[in-house]
Amino acid sequence: MKIGVLALQGAFLEHAQMLERLGVETVEIRQLKDFQQSMSGLVIPGGESTVQLKLLHDLGLFQPIREAVNHGLPVFGTCAGLILLARHVVGDEVERLATIDMTVCRNAYGRQLGSFHTQHVMAGIPGEVPMTFIRAPYIQAVGDGVEVLAEVDGHIVAARQGHQLVTAFHPELTADLRVHQYFLNLIEPR
Ligand code: GLN
Repeated sequence: MKIGVLALQGAFLEHAQMLERLGVETVEIRQLKDFQQSMSGLVIPGGESTVQLKLLHDLGLFQPIREAVNHGLPVFGTCAGLILLARHVVGDEVERLATIDMTVCRNAYGRQLGSFHTQHVMAGIPGEVPMTFIRAPYIQAVGDGVEVLAEVDGHIVAARQGHQLVTAFHPELTADLRVHQYFLNLIEPR
């Protein structure tokens, strides 16, 4: 199995390392031709969603990625990646990939709680999952086809819509491989 990791900006290296630890080949997506090879899934990392969005447009990756995800390419978006996949962002009607029927609040925890670490349950993973939040968004509301996987302090922080997985936290910044394994299981159920 080969997974593309969008490598325009942000914490992409850490995702590739997690996936490689799980025995999966990864390919960095830096330009359109990288995305034109066959792959089983795509990771959109954390970082700054506005910068990533601009680069996606500048590099001609925006439409191809949107079409591929809408046609069934499995995708895992963390933090900024979650924002890019949201149909609505509160107070910001810029065009995004918008492949998941959810409404997101950006920088939702305010300045003081901008970054924090906690442990919490996540559906489909036994025990608790370590969750690192960095100027994180949360999901305010989801549509019918979206399964809520985790909530922290009454806010949705992980969700799934079919082959699309999003987390507001950064599993790639912990030692716990299970959220990445969860994504791989969406691609190839075992
Ligand atoms: N605050 C960032 C944004 O709005 C997301 C932060 C992150 O990805 N760690 O894009």
